[in-house]
Amino acid sequence: MREGSYSWSTQSHTAFDTTIVLIDTDEGITGVGECCPLGPTYLPAYAHGVRAGISQLAPHLMGHDPTHLDHINGVMDTQLKGHPYVKSAIDMACWDLLGKAASLPLYILLGGKLQKEVTLYKVVTRADPAAMAERIPEYRDQGFRQFQVKVGEDPATDIIRIHRVAQEMEAGEVLNADANTGWKQHEALQVADAITDLGKQTGIRLTFEQPCLSYHECLAVRQHTDLPFVLDECIDSIGALLQAHHDHAMDMINLKISRFGGLTRARQARDLCVSLGLPMNVEDSWGGEITTAAIAHLAHSTPPAFQFQSSAFHEYATTQIATGAPSVHNGTMTASDAPGLGVEPILDALELTAEFA
Ligand code: MG
Repeated sequence: MREGSYSWSTQSHTAFDTTIVLIDTDEGITGVGECCPLGPTYLPAYAHGVRAGISQLAPHLMGHDPTHLDHINGVMDTQLKGHPYVKSAIDMACWDLLGKAASLPLYILLGGKLQKEVTLYKVVTRADPAAMAERIPEYRDQGFRQFQVKVGEDPATDIIRIHRVAQEMEAGEVLNADANTGWKQHEALQVADAITDLGKQTGIRLTFEQPCLSYHECLAVRQHTDLPFVLDECIDSIGALLQAHHDHAMDMINLKISRFGGLTRARQARDLCVSLGLPMNVEDSWGGEITTAAIAHLAHSTPPAFQFQSSAFHEYATTQIATGAPSVHNGTMTASDAPGLGVEPILDALELTAEFA
């Protein structure tokens, strides 16, 4: 990690284990995908699980046409129940192949380039309140105006964290207080109550993200606050999304590609959110250049009013795993116009763990 560590809720990591999938075809085209869980204790996903699941699935996919995405997803769902994150890197590599076969960048195949630049947020990793606040001018100098402030640890300290960061922010900027499931319900209510007037006092655009672990705890907190509310970790399926929309449980969601099982299913959820009138943070759990390219293509092809913010994860990493990543400029990113994802893996940076033929 460029900043040494990445800390959210009660967790902290200095590095993440990512898995890259390369799919070679008899036409000589290679597709590339990536899945990087945020360590083993964030979501029900872990790096060794990605590789074990791919070993399970890969022999069943040999001989199938990778450009028939719904067919490929059907085969994967028949051969392995659940485990969407395992399927994500394979699905992503098949989309890359489809783009290369069609000589089109993925944003066109995903719906067209609906926005030239993708708005990014910058994570303010959890630390002492003063240290977090100090980051804001530095990130603003890089062009960021939207900040995801990591809280979800001790609620009293979290209230100080949010207020200290807010002091450094300017009217119109976004302060997204993301607890990543870390608070108990009563703690989330305390924090929401303590920051409820901050937006009115400062002109900062406050949002409150996934305060508690379960959907029902989040819903209870939502029903007692006027803060714009984001659901992230508990939106793990179309069913969960529809239930939450029915319950008026959020104003926005975090759409993470690997949590839905890849670009095929994430696009389905994205299109449903647009139809429901629900804006999104288009992103993934974590990743390098390849995941970031997938995020950028999905975000480019999302109507601007519905793509609130995204993340350029490769900007946080010290190891480069591919060339051709989205370019980051002034708090935005732009995907490559090359066919597919537009990235080329750096094979020397990768360790070969399994091969199927
Ligand atoms: Mg989040």
